[in-house]
Amino acid sequence: MTSVHKTPVLIVGGGPVGLALAAELGWRGVACTLIEQTDGVLATPKMNEVNIRTMETCRRWGIAEKVLTCPFPADHPLDVAFVTSLFGYELGRLPRPARNAQTQEPFSPYRLQACSQIWFDPMLREFAGAFPHVSLRYRCRLDSFAQSEANVTAQVTDAASGAQGTIEAKYLVGCDGAGSAVRRALGIALEGTGAIGHPVHMFFRAPKLLAECGKAPATFYLPVDRAGLWGNIRIIDPNDGLWRVMVDKADGETPEEIDREACLRRALGRDGYDVEWRGLSIWKRMSVVAETYGRGRVFLAGDAVHQLSPTGALGMNTGIADSVDLGWKLAATLTGWGGPNLLASYDAERRPTGARAVRMATGFYQDNEAFARGIDDVEERGERGDKVRAELGAQMLRDVGREFRTVGAQLGHRYDNSPVCVADGTEPPPDTPPEYVPNARPGARAPHVWLEPGRSILDLYGRSFTLLCFPGAPDASAIVAAARARNVPITRADIHSLEAAELYARRLVLVRPDGHVAWRGDAPPADAAALIDRVRGAA
Ligand SMILES: Cc1cc2nc3c(=O)[nH]c(=O)nc-3n(C[C@H](O)[C@H](O)[C@H](O)COP(=O)(O)OP(=O)(O)OC[C@H]3O[C@@H](n4cnc5c(N)ncnc54)[C@H](O)[C@@H]3O)c2cc1C
Repeated sequence: MTSVHKTPVLIVGGGPVGLALAAELGWRGVACTLIEQTDGVLATPKMNEVNIRTMETCRRWGIAEKVLTCPFPADHPLDVAFVTSLFGYELGRLPRPARNAQTQEPFSPYRLQACSQIWFDPMLREFAGAFPHVSLRYRCRLDSFAQSEANVTAQVTDAASGAQGTIEAKYLVGCDGAGSAVRRALGIALEGTGAIGHPVHMFFRAPKLLAECGKAPATFYLPVDRAGLWGNIRIIDPNDGLWRVMVDKADGETPEEIDREACLRRALGRDGYDVEWRGLSIWKRMSVVAETYGRGRVFLAGDAVHQLSPTGALGMNTGIADSVDLGWKLAATLTGWGGPNLLASYDAERRPTGARAVRMATGFYQDNEAFARGIDDVEERGERGDKVRAELGAQMLRDVGREFRTVGAQLGHRYDNSPVCVADGTEPPPDTPPEYVPNARPGARAPHVWLEPGRSILDLYGRSFTLLCFPGAPDASAIVAAARARNVPITRADIHSLEAAELYARRLVLVRPDGHVAWRGDAPPADAAALIDRVRGAA
């Protein structure tokens, strides 16, 4: 006889996106169970850059300080250097200051941080696992599931004992990565161009390499030789000397076929340098988004629904924003104040955002591809070589550098056609990777302003809807009363900051629990009840 475990939400997959959903639900007081087929220990990471929006989410959870004090050294610049090889010439350098040299970002309390998954995932795990109502079950695999009108029943296997069990949930969320069995079981197709590359990652430890190669510290070294730009070299943990070499076009299809010593020679530009090999992975560079983000009581998030080139560092960060969007909607629905259409708005809001991330990431990759061509003389000594390197360095700084100038990509995503936001007819600002235009149009991320030292307006958002009342605001008690009558959590906040008033551009602004604007106006709505019903998905 198998045991039956009941939970409101079953999360399948304990990568960063599943852990973020467990964290978000836990933070909102919603019980959930996460199952992960492995023991959750990562030997080698994929993700190394936590972007600004994810940092803002971490601030709300109270773990941003942990990310800022992760083992990546605070004085190590995040620069990107273009090189012929690690021991070769440097062609140019895109400066990205070290954590302790970063100036205040005007648009956010944070800048993008170097924090590898080997540190970030355990932080999420510790945070989510500390809620008594969150259960994290490692070495537990989803085998199959079936859904009815009322619930989802999942069959699982405990990897250690082989014991099988049943988990019954109100909702199941597949955060089970690119190969998502949940997505496949739902028959949901991926749309896009599929694999646009077959790279290979090689991890190695070489504690003295940075000092010995004579290059100024950076996080990325992008190698370009006679054959052009061929991959990237990243230092993941400068203290431990952990590095990763990525070759864009693998010379084999199995680890045995890959000549890692030849790749190392090419990366270093010299023979006979001893390293301690730590792992190798062959993966597919994809450019796809799922045709829908769920069916019935089953939803999907993260790589299960969008797979994109790592150029631009948008993969996990987009997935975490999926979890934040879905998290408050699940909490509202399970608590009872979320209307019947609220969960459906997850697809309407997040799928276009996933497609946007895929589009931008593929564009950055194409910028790189343009340099994957023969470049004569780039390694030649003397004047001719110097000239080629200087010109190429400047071009790469401009073109390849685009993937590192992405404040717009990080903060500019918005829910323009959301059924649970009330459009106000204003023109949308441009949506390009390098440019972020702070604005409070419905659907946008409510922009950051310091209200006083150390206190951002973002700190008001999270637990409830927030009704911002700026100087001269009319009586808005009907909105608050309508929300309370429907048990919708709402907090009224009087904002005296003129900077905020100018930025938010209306005297009343309603911000959702995920920090996106739901509605704004200079006068209260004619029908406050209809407004609240719209934003809670009950219209
Ligand atoms: C080279 C590289 C660099 C990257 N750098 C960045 C970066 O800097 N920033 C960024 O934002 N993104 C980056 N990404 C992308 C990022 O790594 C992914 O988007 C992210 O890991 C996706 O997280 P996830 O939780 O959706 O999926 P995954 O990390 O793939 O996790 C899925 C989990 O589900 C588990 N699972 C699967 N099936 C089952 C089952 N049946 N039962 C139980 N468990 C199951 C798996 O074991 C796995 O742990 C990078 C990717 C690559 C390849």
